[in-house]
Amino acid sequence: MAEPEFEQARKELVSTLEASSLFEKNPEYKRALTVASIPERVIQFRVTWENDKNEVQVNNGYRVQFNSALGPYKGGLRFHPTVNLSILKFLGFEQIFKNALTGLNMGGGKGGADFDPKGKSDNEIRKFCVAFMKELSKHIGADTDVPAGDIGVSPREIGWMFGTYRAARNRWEGVLTGKGGSWGGSLIRPEATGYGLVYYVDHMIQYASGGKESFKGKRVAISGSGNVAQYAALKVIELGGTVVSLSDSKGALIDTEGKGFSPEVINEIAQLKVERKALTALENHSFKYVEGARPWKEVGKVDVALPSATQNEVSEEEAKALIDAGAKFIAEGSNMGCTQEAIEVFEAHRKEKKGEAIWYAPGKAANAGGVAVSGLEMAQNSARLKWSSEEVDEKLKDIMKNCFENCLSTAKEYLTPADGEFPSLVGGANVAGFKKVAAAM
Ligand code: GLU
Repeated sequence: MAEPEFEQARKELVSTLEASSLFEKNPEYKRALTVASIPERVIQFRVTWENDKNEVQVNNGYRVQFNSALGPYKGGLRFHPTVNLSILKFLGFEQIFKNALTGLNMGGGKGGADFDPKGKSDNEIRKFCVAFMKELSKHIGADTDVPAGDIGVSPREIGWMFGTYRAARNRWEGVLTGKGGSWGGSLIRPEATGYGLVYYVDHMIQYASGGKESFKGKRVAISGSGNVAQYAALKVIELGGTVVSLSDSKGALIDTEGKGFSPEVINEIAQLKVERKALTALENHSFKYVEGARPWKEVGKVDVALPSATQNEVSEEEAKALIDAGAKFIAEGSNMGCTQEAIEVFEAHRKEKKGEAIWYAPGKAANAGGVAVSGLEMAQNSARLKWSSEEVDEKLKDIMKNCFENCLSTAKEYLTPADGEFPSLVGGANVAGFKKVAAAM
């Protein structure tokens, strides 16, 4: 079977590794790359459940246990009609190196089902989660494989699955992360991906401006309106930036008055998402909804762009439009948010315009905060402890700072940027993440 998304993710990694001095310095890592490109194990299973009319329904369930060199397989579960093995192999592959970049001991994996929660009742979603976990519970465990949420899987679904695991295995253990705060979840886990993304970009801004600038006064375009986009937006606002867009699968919601989204509007959006309603409900004198569009060509002047919806949501044309709109910083809250062609546009601009260029950070570094706090949730569960929000947030800030510095110094060492050129964060992230995994293998 053709696996276009997985091939895209693999090619992206391989092309930067080959452009670096990594294989010259460590020839044995070439073999590790070949080995690491095949999942250790792929579990595929049937999920049968009954809808509200008592009719039997069936879906495909999967768990890709990609690499356990650094720790138990770790990575989310995605419930979306587009889910197939190519998508899950790409996500699992990215997850290996992302998890390595957190500095914590977690392997990489990903799973999910081609189940579409849209249009289903709460009861149907619960029944699906129970049926899905009845089978998956045989293959996971706190020291084996620890899933979490991803698109279509929020703490509510994690709760239904956690209860099923407990009943099936007669064990309370930290087998899932992203749990509710009152039953083993870590504080700051819901916020972590969005907050971490903004912390990472804050380091980019500070580095590029020699410490003179921050998010203050910056216009920030964000796509998506789920968990990642919501908390990224709230953190941007807290740091003094203006959020000028959000989006859903049907279109983009654009600020028209220059005031940006307020925390109150973001909270309204969070409520709409719980009710599974579209963003069109918010269209009024302050916001226009552009049907069928992503924000990038609609937002006017921007300084920062944070794709936070799904894979391949910035095309080559949109990358060029972002440069024309004045964007200086692009960082992915989603996994593989930019197409390979878009990355090439950003990277060519970085080389050509040096210190005046756009600077791009890939998801495996910029959105690592989510899985990092999942790692902290595993640590708290194992130790039977609970850390305060402040403690977790401090640790998250440290992890994102180390991740940024690791990408930067690795790029300087292995990709030798020209004088005045920003080091390639995509190259740095790939070499740093891969090197750690290859050494462990
Ligand atoms: N799905 C998230 C990601 O793409 C989080 C995974 C986790 O917490 O295990 O990184």
